[in-house]
Amino acid sequence: MVHEGFGMKAVVLLSGGLDSTVTLAQAIADGREVVALSFRYGQRHCRELESAEAVCKTYGVRHVVMDMDMTSFKSALTRKDIDVPEDRAGDLSSDIPVTYVPARNIIFLSAAAGLAESVGAESIYIGANAVDYSGYPDCRPEFFKAFEEMLSKGTKTGVEGRPVRIVTPILHSTKADIVRLGKALGAPLGLTWSCYNGGDKACGRCDSCRLRLKGFEEAGCADEIGYR
Ligand code: ZN
Repeated sequence: MVHEGFGMKAVVLLSGGLDSTVTLAQAIADGREVVALSFRYGQRHCRELESAEAVCKTYGVRHVVMDMDMTSFKSALTRKDIDVPEDRAGDLSSDIPVTYVPARNIIFLSAAAGLAESVGAESIYIGANAVDYSGYPDCRPEFFKAFEEMLSKGTKTGVEGRPVRIVTPILHSTKADIVRLGKALGAPLGLTWSCYNGGDKACGRCDSCRLRLKGFEEAGCADEIGYR
């Protein structure tokens, strides 16, 4: 599917993970001139930022890395004293896990909106997903709709009648759909990093690794990254 009509330039939020990398690949396939935006927000490890950089190099797109210290927020992704759950039992999508970073997408999208206005981008692509992580309140369709509405009221481009649009190409995709789309678009999935833990190899046990592995398995293809 091609996302038409939002102009040619786009800011893509890129964590360096599978979802955001496939989203970037979709933006390129949509014909967008991409500026990728990543954050050094005090995440547990910077491994994913290396992946983000490698993905940007592959596509030859500009990569902006913003510093935003979120270590005072209560989340297993920003605080070393809260453990990342491993081998968690039951339905991974049923509750809000400790890996939720309070208001993260609100903050990231706000920064992306500022960058979009600054570089003249008409849209922001975000690889949010409401299927596997239905527990994350800032990944829900109504949140993105409300955010667009806010941008139309509170930004220069918004009041001038050209509000920045939010594009969520994989919002309703399963992990297997995302893997298949990435393969179809030729995205460098082997460069991506999804594990909540750092290190040389992914742990294979955190929620993110388990969802990723399940996605590759269901899509019927091998995950090129190494696991411990
Ligand atoms: Zn992991």
